[in-house]
Amino acid sequence: MLLSVIIPCYNEELVILETYKRLTEVMQKTDMDYEFVFINDGSRDQTFPILFQLSQEDNSVKIINFSRNFGHQCAVTAGINNCNGDLAVIIDADLQDPPEVILDMLEIQRKENANVVYGVRKKREGESWFKLVTAKYFYRTLNKLSDVKFPVDTGDFRLIDRTIIDEFNRLHEKNKYIRGLISWMGYKQLPCYYERKERFAGETKYPLKKMLKFATTGLLSFSKKPLKVSIWAGGASVLIGLIYALVILILKIVHPASFVVGWTSIIFIVIFFGGVQLLTIGILGEYIGNLFDEAKDRPEYIIKEKVNL
Ligand code: UDP
Ligand code: MG
Repeated sequence: MLLSVIIPCYNEELVILETYKRLTEVMQKTDMDYEFVFINDGSRDQTFPILFQLSQEDNSVKIINFSRNFGHQCAVTAGINNCNGDLAVIIDADLQDPPEVILDMLEIQRKENANVVYGVRKKREGESWFKLVTAKYFYRTLNKLSDVKFPVDTGDFRLIDRTIIDEFNRLHEKNKYIRGLISWMGYKQLPCYYERKERFAGETKYPLKKMLKFATTGLLSFSKKPLKVSIWAGGASVLIGLIYALVILILKIVHPASFVVGWTSIIFIVIFFGGVQLLTIGILGEYIGNLFDEAKDRPEYIIKEKVNL
């Protein structure tokens, strides 16, 4: 049995050696063969040279080197597409997901013969309250909006087996929301509770902008409900318009004198409905943008070189 550990890395020079050490210690406690698949996602620091050095000393260190930064989800996709394991673990490079939890995941997988063991964060240390709150509500809202139900407080840290890997390799959609796709596949999926730690060193590679993009990807690829906003908003504005017309009509009949032209209300209405229209066109645009990405059918990532693979 071979276990692949998939580790996306973007400017992680400060943590990568420690991560390698901790992971190796954990792997030696299992009776499995293992490989580390590091994906260097266009780092601009010393991440690649450090990884390369490791790969020369240790054959189990394999590297996929991207031609530029394609993003976390693309890096994980490349890892899954290229790993050889019967089982694979997806883990962050920054040691926020403690490598020791892999042992618990393996145990659950064996005992219960599960296809997926996903990490559920009982507690998150050292994250801003903003991230905690937005993450908490994001996962719950997504669940409400989506037709598929996802486990909440769950990231990409998980163990998957060959069945899942092979199914995943059949998916060719572009903007992937990996944790959602894996839940969507079904099979036997079990939780493994753990405490998410503080980042070992360096700072987050997920600034607000990337977080928002990621959240939008999740929402758009698993829910068509935002499109319905347009229908509801449209319906509501037609209704309001009709009522307003009726009121004016009645006022004109019963109280013609009081009827002065309402400049304010017209402006208000123009701005309000202009806004509603822009908003709904924007939502449409997001979906069309995704269709556009699919139609172009570009590869999700470009690999400059592979080491030991
Ligand atoms: N990452 C990546 N490409 C990116 C951004 C992040 O490969 O464009 C990797 C990063 O190196 C880390 C993982 O994705 O291993 C999670 O990123 P990070 O820890 O910065 O996110 P956070 O935990 O703060 O949400
Ligand atoms: Mg992190």
